[in-house]
Formats: sequence, structure tokens, C-alpha cells
Amino acid sequence: MQQSSTQRISLDWRHPFDALGTDFYSPVTPTALSNVHWVSRNFALAQEWGWPDDAFDNDWLAVLAGNTVVTDNPPCASVYSGHQFGIWAGQLGDGRALSLGVMDTPSGPQEIQLKGAGKTPYSRMGDGRAVLRSSIREYLCSEAMHGLGIPTTRALALVGSSDRVLREEIETAAVVTRVAPSFLRFGHLQHFAANGQTGALKTLVDFLIQTQFNGLLQLQAGAPRYSALLSEITQRTASLLAKWQAVGFCHGVMNTDNMSLLGLTIDYGPFQFLDGFDPAHICNHSDHQGRYAYARQPQVAYWNLYCLGQALLPLIEDQDMAVQALETFKALYPALADREFAQKLGLPNVLAQDHVLIESLLKLLAAEKTDFPIFWRRLSHAVSRLQDQGPVLAFEAVKDLFINRHAWEAWLPSYLQRLEGLNTEQAAAIMLETNPKYVLRNHLGEQAIAQAKIGNFTLVDDLLQVLSSPYDEHPRFEHWAGFPPDWASSISISCSS
Ligand code: AMP
Ligand code: MG
Repeated sequence: MQQSSTQRISLDWRHPFDALGTDFYSPVTPTALSNVHWVSRNFALAQEWGWPDDAFDNDWLAVLAGNTVVTDNPPCASVYSGHQFGIWAGQLGDGRALSLGVMDTPSGPQEIQLKGAGKTPYSRMGDGRAVLRSSIREYLCSEAMHGLGIPTTRALALVGSSDRVLREEIETAAVVTRVAPSFLRFGHLQHFAANGQTGALKTLVDFLIQTQFNGLLQLQAGAPRYSALLSEITQRTASLLAKWQAVGFCHGVMNTDNMSLLGLTIDYGPFQFLDGFDPAHICNHSDHQGRYAYARQPQVAYWNLYCLGQALLPLIEDQDMAVQALETFKALYPALADREFAQKLGLPNVLAQDHVLIESLLKLLAAEKTDFPIFWRRLSHAVSRLQDQGPVLAFEAVKDLFINRHAWEAWLPSYLQRLEGLNTEQAAAIMLETNPKYVLRNHLGEQAIAQAKIGNFTLVDDLLQVLSSPYDEHPRFEHWAGFPPDWASSISISCSS
């Protein structure tokens, strides 16, 4: 007899916190949804895992909707705490995310979570649900980030339902299946530290090292392992932030409970990719102070890392080393950001003077709020033509982006000078693989959402496909690489999701 897809795929799932005990999570049965249907399935990810082509059948639909549980262990919601907008918020936890289990895949063990599958003991006032609108944004953006080469949680599928959910207006419920080696956050460690549960903190940190940072296990006995962990997380976070800034990504809610201990982008809410380059841009309508404005993100990451350091203090062997680990961020982040921007300029390595070249360019873009993705893509094409056409002709389309052409013409010679002696074809090749043609601009997401609300999911699937390889040309979707329409600037995204 033929096995069902759930039988074929769900073998050997482990509980994510198998070894830890119930201090860390609560078993939760998902709350079923009505009239569930696929909104989108990520066949590419399923293929990476070697799943059969027909894997996403009705059995799986029921599992990924939270309507059937196939694992031996019940799904679980984990407990964490955190600082929200700089203020200690106490206990939070997975209020609407449930882990089904950990599955072995060719890219290592992956935890499978359902976001929006009903209430948990940590739901507080919330309904445990996620709406279709925000679920489409999370689903598309996590795969877009992956396509860009930026560490992120991923998304396997998106399930819709007819159940109604009240936000600012009535919407429908959806469930995103998200995937990561681990969903542990800064807030998980903060939780046990704040409650004075040093034993539980140690258990969790040792579990984190064992499962996600096992390079640290090679340290000799007695070596300061916990400071080394802090150092490693600091480096990953600095690297992540450099990538965010370079692609113009604003997270929107960088609370400590939204910071991954693995250095992944996690919890897609009111995020935005910059259209025009505005360092002060605030993408979250609810962020009245602009705490999480684009240009502030690196500084916030550093602040969050200090909270993490504080949480680790009871375990830290050597406080000086811990402070040193955190302080490396101050030099490391700018160096990594310079490297990212140097690549965007096609420079194979970073020289001391490049920081000034980059800063002066960013100032120029900020002065005019030049469209960020289009500027870099046009620059890449200009460099590819430089050899043949010479600078005047080659950079014409870039110059057209500026109202103050003198400012552009004043900057360009320093760039041309820097390119001297470099192979500009090679430089352009780097640039075309560094400066995406397609990013998930807000208005593209909004169009997919509007269509999905009336039952047409084609745009979701098309965007998924294009954003998964954002450096490729995709001629059929050229219109998505253009300037945003005027209405894009009036899109308002709040925390409500
Ligand atoms: P977020 O701002 O989405 O990172 O969420 C902050 C906290 O609120 C987390 O503990 C979430 O699990 C929880 N939360 C957000 N929305 C809901 C909801 N609709 N139902 C239950 N908990 C929620
Ligand atoms: Mg969150």
C-alpha cells in the first residue's frame, strides 16, 4: 500500500527541546482552522530536502494548517522574555508559534514551526493567530532574504483559511510554516537570567552550544566557553547588520525577543526595503520615536548584544573577556559594512580610503533620497559598459537619477580613480551579484496581498520565484524592478499582524 506523504516525510522528528525538560516550553495542541487551502508552497525548499514532488498533498495541508498532528511528541511553544522598544517587557514567549519538531535535512537538522496555529500559554491577550496579509509578507521576505544571501529563517509553505481574525479590520487567518536550525532568541536567555534561574540558563546555553555552536566544544576544558559564545554571536550579529544595511533592509521591531542567537533575520513584521535612500526612515508605523530607524539598526544591535551579555553574566567566566567580546562590535561592524559596500562598488578588497568614498556616496544618495536598489543596479551596469563606452556615456543613466548633477559629477572622479587598474568587467560581475535587481518593496507585497485577498495567489508564487534569485534578470518581471508608484509612500505598516 502506498504511504501517505506524512508517513514518508514525518519519520524521526525530534522534539526541539527533547533533552531539556518542561522549564523551557509547554506542549500545545494546535487549534484547527476551517476551510484550509494552500496559498503557496515552496517547492524549491522541499526539493533541497529531497522531498517527493507530490509532497504537498492534502495530508500535509492538514499538518501545516495545524489541523492534524503527526509527530509522536506534541508540538510545543517555548518561553522567552525580552526588551521591547528598550523597556523590559518581562515574559513573552511563543504566543502564536508552535514547533512541530526537528527534522533531519541535507542542510542539517531543521526545526519546523507553525506561526499562527492558535493560542499557547504565552499568548497573553493575543488570539494566537496571524493574518493572511502579514503571513504573505513573512513568507515572501524570508525567502527573499535567503535569495539575497542574508541569513534568515525560511518558509516552507503558507496556508490560508476562511476563519476571520480581528485586527484594525476583519481579516482572514493564515499559517506560515517557518524553518530554521533553531528559533532561539536573545530573549530565551534573558528569560532565565531575569528569573534568577541560573541552572536552567546554563542548561539552555549548553544546549545551544551543543546543537548550534559545536565548534566551541573543541575549546579545552576550563577555557572561557561562554565568553567565546558571546563573541561568536556578536560577530554573527555584526555581519547580519552589515548585510541588512547594504541591501537597505529595515527590520522594524528589533526587540531583544526578535534577535536570533544564530544571527538570523527572524520575525518579519513591519519590515521594509528602502525605496529612496533615507537613513532616518522608520518603517514601523508604531515606532513613534524612530528607535528602529534604518540608520539606527547597528547601534540597536549593539545595545541588544549588551542585554545578551548581561543575561550571560551568571555563567561568564571572565567579565573582561565578555566586555571585550561585545566591544569588538564597534570596530567589526564598520569594517564589515565597508566590505559590503565596497562589494556593491565592485571593489574586490577594501582600502583605507574606501570608507570616505562610501560615506560620501551615501551622503549624496541621502541628500536626494535616490532610489536605493535602482541606483546600485544602474551603477553595476554602468561599470560593465565603462571599458567600451567611457565614463560619460556609461554613467549617463546613473547621472539621470540625480537632480543635483554637480554633486554626482563631483563624486564620480574619486570612484573612477579607485577603479583604475582594476578589471572593470570583473568589478561589474561582482556588482551584478551583489546589487539585486529585485527586492520585496512594500508595494510589491501589497499587490500580492490584494490579489490573495480575492483568492488569486499567482502573484505570491511569481514573487517567490523572482525573489529567490534576485540577481537574475527575469525579463518577464521587468516591471517589478522599476521605481515604486506614488502610492507606495503612503503604505502604512504597523506591528499589527
Ligand atoms: P512580535 O511583536 O510579533 O515579535 O510579538 C511579540 C510577542 O507577542 C511575542 O511573544 C508574540 O508571540 C506575541 N504575539 C504577537 N501577536 C500575537 C497574537 N496574535 N497572539 C498571541 N501572541 C501574539
Ligand atoms: Mg517576535
